[in-house]
Amino acid sequence: MAGGVKRFAVFGDPIAHSLSPRIHAAFSQQTNIPLRYSAIHAPAATFENQLADFDGAGANITLPLKSLVVPICAELSDFARRIGAVNTLSRRLDDHWRGDNTDGPGLIQDLVRRHNVNLYGRRVLMLGAGGAARAAAFALLETDIDSLVITNRTPDRAVALADALADPERVMTDTFADFRNEHAFDVVIDATSAGHTGGRHKLPLHLIAPTTVCYHLSYGKAAQHFIAFAREAGAKRVFDGLGMLVEQAAEAFNIWNGVRPETDAIYAELRAEAPLDATD
Ligand code: NDP
Repeated sequence: MAGGVKRFAVFGDPIAHSLSPRIHAAFSQQTNIPLRYSAIHAPAATFENQLADFDGAGANITLPLKSLVVPICAELSDFARRIGAVNTLSRRLDDHWRGDNTDGPGLIQDLVRRHNVNLYGRRVLMLGAGGAARAAAFALLETDIDSLVITNRTPDRAVALADALADPERVMTDTFADFRNEHAFDVVIDATSAGHTGGRHKLPLHLIAPTTVCYHLSYGKAAQHFIAFAREAGAKRVFDGLGMLVEQAAEAFNIWNGVRPETDAIYAELRAEAPLDATD
């Protein structure tokens, strides 16, 4: 704590372009809760030492550290334990770290509250089986979706995720080859990092109907290809993960400060700088 002001940070690699310091500064101003929040470049090899040297009250953890931080936590929320990934650390009174994961609730808040997507009875297709996909899948199963089909470049990881979800009535895996037998989904969620490396999916067009909602967890350039593809396929509504970023931050702010900030103003500000229409 510096001068009575609590300190927070986001650790990750790369981290230079993180929007988290700006989002938390906006929450601090709005709630009148003073804090300092910085971005700390933390490669996996040095992260544990950097965290040990950090004297803050809490931290966000991002790529590639979300699983690495799990064994450092003396206490985990049930959700973080099930996912095996932590994106929010809170320092407890006896100086140990508690780990939470706010990515899943952030996605649901953005889909349901901001975008008014009705998940009741929906057939959902999810691309990816990495850390963000795990958080999304566990959170989606806490809603009243009808079913979740998971597909991944490495099919074994999709099967492992389906096993971990332990809901065989609602969860299935498919390979791209199986898709010829599937009809259109109500919601398609891209939780891959393919957009960061220029990778492109060749999702069959018949999986997207004029009623389908498409959502990419990434935002900015990494979501561009999927957004263009979904629009071309005729999806009803297409979203990126900017709102999820803001909502997961609000969940973390609430864990640390006991107040959930209003998120629409900072979302509108960030969206104005990165309009979805500009991505196609
Ligand atoms: P991981 O590295 O844990 O997982 C990456 C996933 O993408 C894996 O399923 C991987 O498949 C798949 N993948 C990578 N490259 C390709 C490709 N070329 N073609 C097909 N599939 C590919 O990353 P995360 O799960 O942590 O992050 C995924 C995305 O979600 C990132 O873009 C990240 O920015 C975003 N995200 C957004 C958040 C938000 O708040 N909006 C929060 C968290 C993440 P395989 O298993 O075969 O390697």
